[in-house]
Amino acid sequence: MVSVWKIVVLSVIIGVNRLGQDSYYNTVWVCEEFCVNVVLISMVIAIILALGLLVSLGGLSLLSGAMEFFFGGPKVELLKTGLGESGFAFGFRWNDEKEPAKFDQIKLRLFNPFGEPTQVEVTKQFTPQGKSFAMDMDFGKGFSSFMKAKGLNSALVQIEISSTKNGIFHQFDMKGHGFLRKLSEASQTAEEFQTKHKDEKKQPIYFQTKRSFIADPIPESNKKLKIATNPEFAGEFAAAGGQAAASVENFAVSKVWIDPGCIVCDACEGIYPEVFEVTEETCLIRPDAPMNDGLRIVEAAEACPVEVIKYTKA
Ligand code: SF4
Repeated sequence: MVSVWKIVVLSVIIGVNRLGQDSYYNTVWVCEEFCVNVVLISMVIAIILALGLLVSLGGLSLLSGAMEFFFGGPKVELLKTGLGESGFAFGFRWNDEKEPAKFDQIKLRLFNPFGEPTQVEVTKQFTPQGKSFAMDMDFGKGFSSFMKAKGLNSALVQIEISSTKNGIFHQFDMKGHGFLRKLSEASQTAEEFQTKHKDEKKQPIYFQTKRSFIADPIPESNKKLKIATNPEFAGEFAAAGGQAAASVENFAVSKVWIDPGCIVCDACEGIYPEVFEVTEETCLIRPDAPMNDGLRIVEAAEACPVEVIKYTKA
């Protein structure tokens, strides 16, 4: 009997233990699974966002390319000619900063497989043009046969404008009926086109400063500079220069100021920097300027070419 009870108790203990271990392992497994799921979901979201970004950038790039293709490329306009049947006028615009070429030739081609003649090409040279331009040119008999071709309406017309020097050309294709319609509707002459597009300016890529950094010339004056270095007045500044003979006694001033009209020549500051401070706009008196060396203030005042330094003796 004792043995049976022992076996039952032992079985219960072992069962409870295993149950505890299982729930522990279950909890750990659930946590691990949750973490793995969170990581996976985050990765999927990140990949979707990255793909979305790539698609958006690609779309924007395509859009800007399409805008450039449709609206930013070179353009040819058919204009009203003043040269009769054999005359052909056109205007050509392109971004000459992006493509700095000089265009000097135009070709008109007619591809007319179901009409007569089946193919016509007329070429004209003109003075090289480096900016938007318009021409009204006599293409001669070739153009007359071009315009009189049977089946022109359903033919293909190609206008090629090229730079023979730079090896650049631009082709514009249109149906014959479109070409004829544009020619008949053209109301602008080559001159009007030139005038209209002559002043077309690109956005400036630099700005000019409004202020000039070159000083205006100093006004002419017959005044003799009463400064220590001028031999004519050397004696008067002997005291300030430490010479034995003092012909003028130094003195203090009670006030120094600058009248309007300073031309910022720096002369005063060069003579007495403790008193004068020349800025970009004018000359200022320093707040702690010494007032006891009147002779140097006089020297600065005498050196001022526009005589705007004023003072009163103490
Ligand atoms: S010397 Fe006269 S003009 Fe020249 S900076 Fe001084 S105050 Fe101005």
